[in-house]
Amino acid sequence: MTRHPQVAPVVCSSQPGEALAPDGQLIGDTSGTVRPAGPLRVAIVGAGPAGFFLAERLLGREGGGVEVDLYERLPAPYGLVRFGVAPDHEKIKSVTRSFDAVARRPGFRYFGNVDFGGDVTLADFARHYHQVCFTTGAQTDRKMGIPGEDLLRSHPATEFVAWYNGHPRFRHLTFDLDVERVAVVGVGNVAVDVARMLCRTPEELATTDVADYALEALRRSRIKEVYLLGRRGPVQAAFTTPEAKELGELDGADVTARPDEVALDPWSQAELMRAQDRTLAKKVELLRGFSTRARAGKPRLLTLRFLVSPVELHGDASGRVVGMRLVRNALLKEKNGALRAAPMGWYEELPVELVFRSVGYRGVPLPGVPFDETRGIIPNVRGRVSNPQSPIPNPRLYVAGWIKRGPSGVIGTNKPDAAETAEAMLEDLGSGAVPQPPEPSAEAVERLLRERVPCLITFDDWKKLDALESERGKAGGRPRVKMEEAEMLRKLGCE
Ligand code: NAP
Repeated sequence: MTRHPQVAPVVCSSQPGEALAPDGQLIGDTSGTVRPAGPLRVAIVGAGPAGFFLAERLLGREGGGVEVDLYERLPAPYGLVRFGVAPDHEKIKSVTRSFDAVARRPGFRYFGNVDFGGDVTLADFARHYHQVCFTTGAQTDRKMGIPGEDLLRSHPATEFVAWYNGHPRFRHLTFDLDVERVAVVGVGNVAVDVARMLCRTPEELATTDVADYALEALRRSRIKEVYLLGRRGPVQAAFTTPEAKELGELDGADVTARPDEVALDPWSQAELMRAQDRTLAKKVELLRGFSTRARAGKPRLLTLRFLVSPVELHGDASGRVVGMRLVRNALLKEKNGALRAAPMGWYEELPVELVFRSVGYRGVPLPGVPFDETRGIIPNVRGRVSNPQSPIPNPRLYVAGWIKRGPSGVIGTNKPDAAETAEAMLEDLGSGAVPQPPEPSAEAVERLLRERVPCLITFDDWKKLDALESERGKAGGRPRVKMEEAEMLRKLGCE
């Protein structure tokens, strides 16, 4: 195996705290970390939170010596912060300020509008980088697996979320909001985001960065009733307490729940007692409160249902959803102690005409990269891609974020996750396992990209677009007005 002559393995230590490269050159203090004489070159694929947190960690390495190129398929960075976080949760998006600070660090480059697998391949990366890390998130959704799921007016929530956030690949979609009743299946935070967006008044939405076409469509919406459907009980609901509280404070919708469905069965009571979790107790209390609330006459009604599962969607002659069959569930305790929803055999019909399934995101495979079809992730051990049949010679492939662990946790969860991967990467560097690429040159990579990508977007380019979007937003009292991809490219002089 060819070794990197500068990012050298520690082969012996002449004095405590010093190390020698194989050619005998003293390369630095190893009491904490190995300090290479030349830069470790890393490609990160996916400019969402995990990508930025990883870049931050690598660039902040004691002693430096790391260069990061962050690749993104879209022109704009920030991943789910831009295209997943609900428009009415503007505060959460302020995390992009810390990502911008990472982008200003020496050794960082952003390459937007570059398709991994199309414009660049693993073979290209093997030529130019010591290490490659995938932070591509979970780009598709899980299915419910019930008849009628693919009828018209039945959609994955992930698509609706990407659509209202102006994602370039989802802008063309249409959602029929000319209906009165909608069901959102699942009780995670994404389901709550979708239900809340459907319940917001046009006035509330008008001050957000929701895509203009979505603002218009939501303004014309005829929706009167929104159902959030949980297959288990309130104690097991995946949404977090602040999100539950927010549902009770909407200007445009009353919220309600059924007393029998928020009452706790003995298993759930025991689970709540055992958890000793005040936040969880508060959530259950909030949900119970919803069940006794009087309606205040707001234009919409949001109903939280628990212990129900859709078993079939019904369609009309033109194939559009006109109803949903639900089965009532009870909780059963598994051998491992988990509480599972089990159908009781009692059914009811819910006359909904639009359905969003929000039962979890799922990762998609990347060309040439191992993939675990069952879990929808890249198989890995603490961030090291674990399939030995990788096409890169002397593979040094890593993974962080949702594509590493699955779609769980909030944005901040990706920070310790990325730190674990960074630790593995630097550990491998320190142990001498990092193979030397044939052409580890920053200039060579940029040359290659400029040949292949007609409109390569740097971070400076992005900041110009960002300023334009913010400027447009100011006029309407909004944080920004998102630009279409084609317009972005035009503004940068790429026709
Ligand atoms: P999630 O939190 O995993 O919730 C998925 C929901 O789908 C659960 O209620 C689950 O119920 C239900 N479900 C799964 N399969 C089902 C089926 N076949 N039938 C009916 N229900 C089913 O996923 P998510 O809502 O997509 O969120 C992904 C992550 O992003 C989460 O960690 C979330 O907290 C985070 N996020 C955070 C925010 C925020 O902080 N504001 C906003 C959006 C997303 P069971 O529990 O019974 O499996």
